[in-house]
Amino acid sequence: MELLKEKIRQEGIALSGQVLKVDSFINHQLDTELMLEVGKEFASRLGNGEKVTKVLTIESSGIAAAMTTAIALGAVPVIFARKRKSITMNDDYYVAPVYSFTKQEKSEVTVAKRFLSSEDNVVIIDDFLAHGAAASGLVSIVEQAGAKVAGIGIIIEKAFQNGGHKLRESGYPICSLVRIKSLEAGKVEFIED
Ligand code: 5GP
Repeated sequence: MELLKEKIRQEGIALSGQVLKVDSFINHQLDTELMLEVGKEFASRLGNGEKVTKVLTIESSGIAAAMTTAIALGAVPVIFARKRKSITMNDDYYVAPVYSFTKQEKSEVTVAKRFLSSEDNVVIIDDFLAHGAAASGLVSIVEQAGAKVAGIGIIIEKAFQNGGHKLRESGYPICSLVRIKSLEAGKVEFIED
């Protein structure tokens, strides 16, 4: 997605060769026009041929893109999984463990069972794909509900980390709006498609 690449070139900051800071348009301040385009792009590129009934993301950075995607898909509900250090096992929640490589900590993501059922066909959205823990946690929650994964939409995939490879092996349709080859020496290099 050219618009997104341009924004990353102008405002993205490559930290330590591993992490891209995009807090002026995704992670702190939001570029609302860009988010609208992101939502339209996901809605046009994701799906398994069946009506999408819900969009699932993880708090908090996935919520904006999940919202615009859900609106573009016909104003379906958005569910954002909550991140918690640990909850006492409770039958009312689907729970999946997620390890954060950026924060170097383990947490659990939870979704209340009443918001997802086996009738649902779910698009998963997140801001970044790095090692794949967050997206895999969301897939696990959809699977626990007996629902279908219609597709996985990622705004920025860091293709030099292994999450994309792992998720593609799982066979679910994945749409990354941009794929980054390298962040070495403070320079963002994209995989051109
Ligand atoms: P994964 O679970 O795939 O290892 O990492 C994805 C999650 O970590 C995303 O939800 C995102 O919040 C965070 N993340 C991973 N890499 C980056 C990065 O380079 N920049 C930012 N801002 N967040 C990242």
